[in-house]
Order: sequence, then structure tokens, then C-alpha cells
Amino acid sequence: MSQATISPATQTVHWHSAPAPASTQTATQPQRWSVDAIQALLDLPFMDLLFQAQSVHRQHWPVGEIELATLLSVKTGGCPENCGYCPQSAEFDTGVKAEKLMSVEEVTRAAKAAQDAGATRFCMGAAWRAPKDRDIEKMNELIGAVKGLGLQTCATLGMLQPHQAQSLREAGLDYYNHNLDTAPEYYQDVVSTRQYQDRLDTLAAVRGAGISVCCGGIIGMGEEVVHRAGLMAQLANMEPYPESVPINSLVPVPGTPLADSEPVDPLDFVRVIAVARITMPKARVRLSAGRQQLGEAVQTLCFMAGANSIFYGDKLLVTGNPDVEADVQLLRKLGLRGLQTQAAA
Ligand code: SF4
Repeated sequence: MSQATISPATQTVHWHSAPAPASTQTATQPQRWSVDAIQALLDLPFMDLLFQAQSVHRQHWPVGEIELATLLSVKTGGCPENCGYCPQSAEFDTGVKAEKLMSVEEVTRAAKAAQDAGATRFCMGAAWRAPKDRDIEKMNELIGAVKGLGLQTCATLGMLQPHQAQSLREAGLDYYNHNLDTAPEYYQDVVSTRQYQDRLDTLAAVRGAGISVCCGGIIGMGEEVVHRAGLMAQLANMEPYPESVPINSLVPVPGTPLADSEPVDPLDFVRVIAVARITMPKARVRLSAGRQQLGEAVQTLCFMAGANSIFYGDKLLVTGNPDVEADVQLLRKLGLRGLQTQAAA
């Protein structure tokens, strides 16, 4: 049987009977993916793409294991940024009320409940543009309290300065989520209150502090296929690439500028998952926001394509997520094992 694969080393399409071996790369020769090579992957015949992604997945991950990630919003709403997809922006009338940062006691209680339910990692999200140093001090208290329970810690707090990332690391932060959202060329169509480089600078600060990186994007914001390829190239070419790659399907929220976006073709979403798996073999590829709209069959294709993490629980910050019971049933039907952590969008 002929099978199409594309390798990053030459960035050309090859036709042969087996997936390209992982050993084509060496430790001193980091993978570099061009946007063209990734677009060629996205354009492969669907079955060839899925076969290649599943083959790469099986070389790097235990078969049938899915990370179950959940996220607590510790400070909701009132954000001064204008991300066109986000109901937490203060610029948009979405009905989300601005709240204060939760107390150490409230967060510790939630973290303990998550731990009792089997979670090993706990992620805290705060709707800040860029936390002030005094916000970091408060977050450090929350991180210390969660760490004290024996949980891994994760946070998503907006843009960070290097000294803030260092402070969070010293307080015990293990993971930081900061999404690139889309390709650099499409970024200003989605958000105008910051630059793409701001995101990259924060990611560099996080890496520099020794914190693991969780970074992904959103599909279905009106972008072209080349922008999806551009996002994937940005992620895959980081050195190293992120440990966690959340891929979101836009959940259009009334009141946001992207409320009337055309729904993404579910098979195109699966293609992006497959490309994330092929270009970042050892990353946790996470099905994040928008899973509710995908239905069981498309989620199954996403698992085939190499997704090995899902958001679990009723709410993903402020948008809906499939019921826990429905998730349990789906995993059971597919013979997949859940591995509980709590992680970022
Ligand atoms: S995505 Fe984050 S930074 Fe953007 S508006 Fe929402 S809370 Fe603010």
C-alpha cells in the first residue's frame, strides 16, 4: 500500500510504504518545519494523513492513554485585552462579570477536591493582560498552597516579564499556558491590543525560568489554511517545542467580534490535530475548547489523529464542555484509559 509522508528534514512529500523513521533527526539537528511543508501535510489525502499521524503517535506514546485535564478560573472577566474570541474581555458585552482573585482557601478547597477526584496537576487561569508584581505575589501564595497538597501546578495569567516567570518558578510553578492563537500574519485580525512578539517574549521568559510550556491555538476564526500551517510552524519550530499543545475549535460567543464566524469543517479540525502530532511527536496534543460541537465520531477521529489529552469537566473557563459522564462513556466505548491531570487551555 502506498503511503504519503512528509519529513521535516527535506520538507518535501515522499511516497513510500512506511512512515518516515523518527531517527532521521539527531540531537544537534533540530526539526525545522516550513509553512509550505506543513501546508503540504494539511493537504494530504485524509486517510494518508491520519495513518501517518497514528503511526507517529504509536512510536512515542502508550496506546490508549488520554490525559484528562481541567482548569479553574481563579480570576474571571474584566480583561483589558480584546481577543476577538474571548467572552472575558472588558471591551465586549458578553454577560461575563468581572470577579476578584479567589482566596487561598477557596483555591485550596478546589485543588483538594480535584486531587480527591484523581487529578495530579492543577491549573489556574486569571484574566489579566499582564499581571502586576503584586498579582504575582498573590499567585505565588496560591501556587504554594496547591503545591503543598502534592499537586503539580500550572497557570495562565497573561504576559510575563522574566523576573515574574522566575518568581513563579521559585514558588513552585511547573507549567505555564500562553497560546499563540494563530499565525503571525493573521494575528492582528484577532487581537489588536498586543503584538505576536509579545507572546513569543513571554514564552521565552517562561522557558528561561525553567517552566514547562503549554502553547497552542484556535481553529475557526476565519483564518485560511496557510494561517493554520503558519501557527503549526511557529509551535513546531520552537526549541524545544511545547510540552503541551492545546488545539481549540472556536466556540463563538454572542457579543464577541467572532460571534458569527463560519463553523470550522470538523474534518479540517482533525487535520490540524494530525499535523500537531506529526510535527511535535512528544507533545501532549490536547482537544480543548469546542469539543462539545465535535460529537463522538469526530472526537474519535481526533484520537486517531494523535490527540492524547482532553479537557474534562463542565466548564472550560467560561465556555461549555461535554459532561463528565459523557466523556467517561466515550472513553469506555473506545477502550481508552483516562490519566487525570489538571492543565491549561
Ligand atoms: S483570551 Fe485572555 S488575554 Fe485575551 S481577552 Fe480573554 S482573558 Fe484577556
